[in-house]
Amino acid sequence: FDRRIFNFAAGPATVPEEVLKQAAAEMLNWQGLGASVMEISHRGKEFMALYEETLRDLRTLMSIPETHEILLLQGGGIGQNAAIPMNLMPLGKNGPKADFLVTGIWSEKSFKEAQKYGVAHQAASSAAEKFNTIPARSSWQLSDDAAYVHYCANETIGGVEFPDIPDVDGKLLVADISSNILTKEMDISQCGVWFGGAQKNIGPSGVTIVIVRKDLMGHSMKITPSIWDWSLQAATQSMHNTPPTFAIYMAGLGFKWLLKQGGVKAIAQRNQEKANLLYDFLDQSSLYENRVTKAYRSRMNVTFFLKDENFNAEFLAQSHAAGLVALRGHKAAGGMRASIYNAMPLAGVQVLIEFMRDFERRA
Ligand code: PMP
Repeated sequence: FDRRIFNFAAGPATVPEEVLKQAAAEMLNWQGLGASVMEISHRGKEFMALYEETLRDLRTLMSIPETHEILLLQGGGIGQNAAIPMNLMPLGKNGPKADFLVTGIWSEKSFKEAQKYGVAHQAASSAAEKFNTIPARSSWQLSDDAAYVHYCANETIGGVEFPDIPDVDGKLLVADISSNILTKEMDISQCGVWFGGAQKNIGPSGVTIVIVRKDLMGHSMKITPSIWDWSLQAATQSMHNTPPTFAIYMAGLGFKWLLKQGGVKAIAQRNQEKANLLYDFLDQSSLYENRVTKAYRSRMNVTFFLKDENFNAEFLAQSHAAGLVALRGHKAAGGMRASIYNAMPLAGVQVLIEFMRDFERRA
């Protein structure tokens, strides 16, 4: 390509051009230090000032109350799949235990990882429905003695999103927001823990945001590796080990960009508009279809199938040639997926629909 493409990758994903340009402009000499931000000490006053400003911006964007601590860690959502049970399961009434709402491949992974640390109880599952829906609330079997209930707010592979924070009878909730963090307003007080990496809706991979209610720290299992012990990380400003400084700087630029867009409320409107356009197009098409229960369709990951799968290879080749890249669905789900995170402009979705309409006409 001799130009920037529309990148529909599921993560790492597209980053706003302004953010990339600023990083490029500051690459050789950040803040007059004669060095880039990735080359300076994480404990020096310049980086610490950046770090604190980054946390402040995130707190503002997500309206994070003082009851909750923000940790910037490494190891991704996959790391937290182990860290969460190690930090929280001991709060179970009769020993380490947690409940899981299994609505897709990511919550299933969390459920399986937790089994290493205690009793992981599957309180609900939509596996029998091929993860195309969220099980009816009346079918959930929540335990009385579990420390918490884990759910995945947006299943990146299936394209299934909880429209609201689930009702778990006041039990402690843990939310995986890896693929919808900062994409709509979320009432942070409703969950004990929120976690997700930066590589979809914020910036590059390498930094994991973990938002923890302060009273939930300090109960970890003895075996917890110190880098994943939330109370230790909180006490050291997430610098028990060397933090991913460049990824944090890039996330900080991402936060500034979001603030400039009008914050989460404004970006949420745009995200809804983009998703509506694409789903409306899919619904009227005779070539493409989305298979997710309408009320649970993801605003971020729009999955679709060509009703005649013989056209798949041609669809992928032609879309790629048109500069519409990374539309192949996850191998576990098949079909196609357009990930349209915060940084995907409306124009990207419009051009995609035009291409798909034209492809359908020719098919
Ligand atoms: N949860 C969800 C919903 C995800 O989409 C992902 C990554 N695609 C993960 C967890 C794992 O995150 P990471 O790769 O940052 O460890």
